[in-house]
Amino acid sequence: MNNNVKKLLDLQNADRLIREKRNQIDSIEARQEKIRGQIGAIEENEREGEEKLSALIRKSEEKNENADELQEQINKYQDRLDQGIISFKETEALKEKVQHTTDRLEELEDDAINIMMKIDELKEKRNRRRSESKDKVDEKSSLIESLDEEKEGLLSEIEEVSGERKAILGEIPDRLVKQYNRLKSNANEPVVQIINGVCQGCQMSVSKNTIKKARSDQGIATCENCSRILYIR
Ligand SMILES: [Zn+2]
Repeated sequence: MNNNVKKLLDLQNADRLIREKRNQIDSIEARQEKIRGQIGAIEENEREGEEKLSALIRKSEEKNENADELQEQINKYQDRLDQGIISFKETEALKEKVQHTTDRLEELEDDAINIMMKIDELKEKRNRRRSESKDKVDEKSSLIESLDEEKEGLLSEIEEVSGERKAILGEIPDRLVKQYNRLKSNANEPVVQIINGVCQGCQMSVSKNTIKKARSDQGIATCENCSRILYIR
């Protein structure tokens, strides 16, 4: 095998390693993105629960204010009744108003109690959910961190291989590097083996002459069909 072809194979191996590590980094980043989405969903859920609770607390305050107003009204009616300076008809009418308002007040108080119970229930749920959510978010965050470390490791490996690649590149004639790069823009593996007379890049048979050239250490053999650089073992 031509010595330059050996070096091109080394170059190709380095490129493959770099490509594989970059793919690994891509999938790590995709995984991190997914986990960030999950954390976002947990936080969103938390916010929604919080909003629901505050809305209910506001509603409860409103009910209490309304109850106070009704109670005030009843007191006023009662004062007028106690003063006793009104006619029988007016007294009857006022008594009816008192009754009616008292009924409404009772209804309101029932509502208020139901809401308060609901609030207690929601608060309890919230506290439970909060600690669960916190555990989940912590777990997911530390997973993101450990994936970061994994990524860092891959990056430094890429750096190392890139250094080796640069050294290999320096030993190959420019003309061949250009040829390699041109082929690489179409295929990941520009240097392929001939097995049983067949180019492993395009699966077409190559000529006897090409096989002979690939065997010798003189010149560079290329596939007549796909132009890939060929070697034979
Ligand atoms: Zn071919």
